[in-house]
Amino acid sequence: MKIRDHYLDEDVVVRKETPNRSGPFGNGLPDTIIIHYTAGGSAESSVNTLCDPKTKASAHLVIGREGSIYQLVPFNLIAWHAGRSAHQGRVGFNKYAIGIELDNAGRLTKSGEEYVSWFGRAYPENEVVEAVHRNESEPSCWHRYTEEQIAISQDICADLIENYGITSILGHEEVSPGRKVDPGPAFPMDKLRELLLYRDRGAEVQEEPSPFPFKGVVTASKLNIRQSPRLKAGTVAAPLTKGTIVEILREENGWYEVDVKMRGWVKKEYIKA
Ligand SMILES: [Zn+2]
Repeated sequence: MKIRDHYLDEDVVVRKETPNRSGPFGNGLPDTIIIHYTAGGSAESSVNTLCDPKTKASAHLVIGREGSIYQLVPFNLIAWHAGRSAHQGRVGFNKYAIGIELDNAGRLTKSGEEYVSWFGRAYPENEVVEAVHRNESEPSCWHRYTEEQIAISQDICADLIENYGITSILGHEEVSPGRKVDPGPAFPMDKLRELLLYRDRGAEVQEEPSPFPFKGVVTASKLNIRQSPRLKAGTVAAPLTKGTIVEILREENGWYEVDVKMRGWVKKEYIKA
């Protein structure tokens, strides 16, 4: 997906006009993407709502469940999606962020065998995710996002990062906690950030720490200690005895290189301190 003149390519996106927008972003902005769900019944109905001057709401993009993409506002102009919002010392995120809406019914209420949206539509169990919201402590039911929606969101975010130098991806729930719960726990927000923003740092974190050195104890009654990890190598000292504590420095072909500390009493005049 390519971005030209602040629009996604016309062969992948349906352009719509909304009056619900402001002027251009300030210098160095946008630097953030905010992910939302529509809490609606279809992408088309949400697009119509976001193009209605009475709603005073919009977003740059709406992504349908089958992967259709609508662009309502070019990426260089401010859309009205975040409302009252604050995060890390910044207030009013419309002026910082590109808004992406995903067609999704939002939180669902279990009623018998059915899961019902706030607007009264029932969804089958295979479209439901039960999970605890990041701002809550009890699990509840959420409308599942489709694989297409998640894949397209990821592609678009990657393109926006490349084109605009986006440095953070946030959920509406993170900039308007208490007031908003979208996109909710059905959206893989942490995974998306890990993949697109923190990949280098992630690689460092995954590096295995060395297990060496660690301590061991001799279990044989007499154990030869050799100059190199071979049976033919000469010994460096008298054999170690059972119960001797060794510090294991490294491993090679079934051998441990060890450091042996002995403790005992020796005549003072033969020691250089
Ligand atoms: Zn929202």
